[in-house]
Amino acid sequence: MITRAVRKALPMIERSARLGFALATRRRLPYSVTFILTHRCNFQCDYCDIPAAAGDEMSKDEFCAAIDELAGAGMARASFSGGEVLLRPDALAILGHAKSRGLFTSLNTNGWLVGRHIDALASSLDMMVVSIDGPENQHDLVRRKRGSYKRVLGAIDLARSRGIAVATITVLSRQNLSVVDDVLALAEKHGFWAYFQPAYADCFEHARGLDPALSADVLAALARDLGRARAAGLPVAASPGFLERLGRGPAFGDCGDCHAGRYFGTVLPDGVVVPCHLVSKEATYPNGREIGFVRAFLEMPHPTRGPGCAISPYQESDLIFHLDARAIAAAVERFSRTPGPRAHSRG
Ligand code: SF4
Repeated sequence: MITRAVRKALPMIERSARLGFALATRRRLPYSVTFILTHRCNFQCDYCDIPAAAGDEMSKDEFCAAIDELAGAGMARASFSGGEVLLRPDALAILGHAKSRGLFTSLNTNGWLVGRHIDALASSLDMMVVSIDGPENQHDLVRRKRGSYKRVLGAIDLARSRGIAVATITVLSRQNLSVVDDVLALAEKHGFWAYFQPAYADCFEHARGLDPALSADVLAALARDLGRARAAGLPVAASPGFLERLGRGPAFGDCGDCHAGRYFGTVLPDGVVVPCHLVSKEATYPNGREIGFVRAFLEMPHPTRGPGCAISPYQESDLIFHLDARAIAAAVERFSRTPGPRAHSRG
């Protein structure tokens, strides 16, 4: 007799088998999809130009239909991002719908509105990813919002207390290059995994390059420091493969070899399907509202050139779909272990 636990795990087993077949036959499969529900935001962060792109947004029903269609085609993971997702009154219904389809769900948020919605989030979310830019002064300065640091730590503690795994992303720019140690100390104390990634001059066009403060030397030093911290047991979320790519910046790799658009992709608020937001201005991409989301995913142009990127979720996904054993082990560790104070000191 099939137990309840096995019955619950069956859809995930089936999706993993479909992914294995797709990888073996080099066919595209929308296994992991980021849904950008809105470009609107209640913050105006120093390094971010996303809110300026705010415009047409699909309705709740359209997003739910896209989720249904992609889940039927093998999607196992749905990430929700913005702008600030929780500005949409129907965001929780969309998240809940994804959870009801048996998907692994994650939410990127600035944390400001998390407290208000924690009950609904606790029932629909596997992982919350919040932005943190350093200690209080630096965080509030970069976010241009007083009180945002206290609010984000409150959101982290609340999510942890409700059993939601938490990771942070620190976008490093000229304003906050020296905050790595502070963020890692917070990560140990509050129990989260910390990602670090460089700021781009334009969030939608990586051809415009990185924040000018992020020279090759700075990136190489950052990768070395994070590697040492990781080896010392600090909760650095990045896998060794990501750190190697980071250390090669600003030519991180090769967009032509990236699995964005093959096994993971992004649905923009208006329904356009792109490999990733950084190449979204490089071609004309199909709109899932017009031709269906699975067809849009399967037919979107794939970048043929470009210097790669150091956007953490994309690069970790790319490494995993390249079957990088260290990236897979790091992902398993992130999902199976909650960071806490170390038993040993940093080397
Ligand atoms: S490396 Fe991949 S995720 Fe990064 S910009 Fe290129 S195509 Fe996009």
